[in-house]
Amino acid sequence: MNNEPNVCIVGSINMDLTVKTDKMPMQGETVLGDTFFTNPGGKGANQAVAAARMGANVNFIGAVGEDAFGKTLLQNLTNEGVRKTGIETIPDVSTGTATIILSDNDNRIIVAPGANNHVTPELVEKYRDLIKSSDIVLMQLEVPMETIEFTTELAETNGVPIIMNPAPFQQLPEKVLKNISYMTPNEIELAAMKEDPLFDFIQEKLVVTRGDKGVSFVENGTEQDTDGYHVHVTDTTGAGDTFNGTLAGELARGAELAEAVNVANAAAALSVSKIGAQGGMPTKQDVQRFLQ
Ligand code: ADP
Repeated sequence: MNNEPNVCIVGSINMDLTVKTDKMPMQGETVLGDTFFTNPGGKGANQAVAAARMGANVNFIGAVGEDAFGKTLLQNLTNEGVRKTGIETIPDVSTGTATIILSDNDNRIIVAPGANNHVTPELVEKYRDLIKSSDIVLMQLEVPMETIEFTTELAETNGVPIIMNPAPFQQLPEKVLKNISYMTPNEIELAAMKEDPLFDFIQEKLVVTRGDKGVSFVENGTEQDTDGYHVHVTDTTGAGDTFNGTLAGELARGAELAEAVNVANAAAALSVSKIGAQGGMPTKQDVQRFLQ
C-alpha cells in the first residue's frame, strides 16, 4: 500500500452565495429575504477537500480571480491541506460563484464560472509535472472541455489513471471516454449517458452512485452492488463530491476498487448526516471509526 497517495485534481473553485427567502421573487419583483451566507464550493475544490481529509496528498490545478472571494477560497484550501502550486490568480476576472436562491419549495441557482474558464490547456501544461507525479487524476465538468481533453490525454500518456465525475452532465468526446479509467455518474447522469451512442466505451468503467441505495460498479467485467449505509439524513449537499474525493484518495493508496468504493460509500454516508458540502466531509479517523 502507498502511504503517500498523490491525487491531482483539475477543476473548479467557487464561492457559493446562498440567500434564503420565504418568497421567490417574480419577474421584476424585489422581496425581503431571510438569511444570507457564503460557503466554499465548486466540485473540484469540494472533492479536493474530501480527498485531503482522507489523508491523501492533494495537488490542485485551477484558478481564482483577483478578488476577496479568491483570497478566502485559497486560504480555505490551505487550511484543508490542499497544495496550491497549480492554482493561479487571474487578474481582472472574478472568482467563480454559484448564486443560490433557496426557498421552502424552490431552489434557483446561477453559476458564473469566472476564473474557472481560465483553467486552460496552457495552464495544465505549465503544471504537467503535478499530473505526471500523481497516482490518480480526478476531474469534473466545470472547466472548459478543451482542458478536459488535454488533461485526460496527458494523464493517459503518462500512465496515470483518471476518474471522471461527469457533473454537471455534458456529452464527452470519444477520445476522453477512451482515456479515462473510471466514470462516476449519479443515477440522473447515468440516464443521460445511456442516450449516448458511445455508451459502450464506458460500461466497464462505471462506478454509479445511487443516493441512499449505495453504489453499483463493474469489477473484472462483473457488475457489483454495494448497499448504502443507514444514516440520519441531515443534508445531502456534497455527497457525490465526498464520494469522488474519497474514491480518488483510496485508489491512489492502492486499494482494490471494491475496497475503495466501500470506504467512499461510508464517507459519503457520513457527509449526509452533517450540514454543508465541505463542512460535512468526514476525516479518515471518522470513517475508520464508522467502519469498525
Ligand atoms: P450526488 O450527490 O452527486 O447526487 P448521490 O445522491 O448518488 O450523488 O450520492 C452519492 C453517494 O453518497 C451515494 O452513492 C452514497 O454513497 C452516499 N449517499 C447519498 N445519499 C445518501 C443517504 N441518504 N444515505 C446514505 N448514503 C447516501
